[in-house]
Parts: sequence; structure tokens; C-alpha cells
Amino acid sequence: MFIKRKQEETPEKVYELKAVEIWQCPECIGWMQKEFSTAENPVCPFCSSSMVAGVREMNVIVE
Ligand SMILES: [Zn+2]
Repeated sequence: MFIKRKQEETPEKVYELKAVEIWQCPECIGWMQKEFSTAENPVCPFCSSSMVAGVREMNVIVE
């Protein structure tokens, strides 16, 4: 017998506001997370300015 079972128990995703280290562009809104960049002195992908280190508060999923 085929029992159709609806998945109702979706695991709850918990978000937490966390300060994340980023590179940000001083000339435009461009920024990237440091952990996704291996460059020591990255340049903005939009305007090619040198990016500066900063911190941004982001919602990250806590498992
Ligand atoms: Zn830029």
C-alpha cells in the first residue's frame, strides 16, 4: 500500500545576526566576505577600486 506522506516536519532554520569580516569598496556598494576571498588586497569587481577591510552584520544560518 502506497502511503503518501507529506513532509511537514521541515527542520527549522535558525538565523543569527553575526558580525562577518568583509572587504568593502570605498567607491561603490561592492563588498565580499573575506572567507570567500583569498586575495590579500582584493579589488572591487565593479569599479576596480582597492577594497578595505570591514565588518558587516549578517544573518547566518546556525545549524
Ligand atoms: Zn567598487
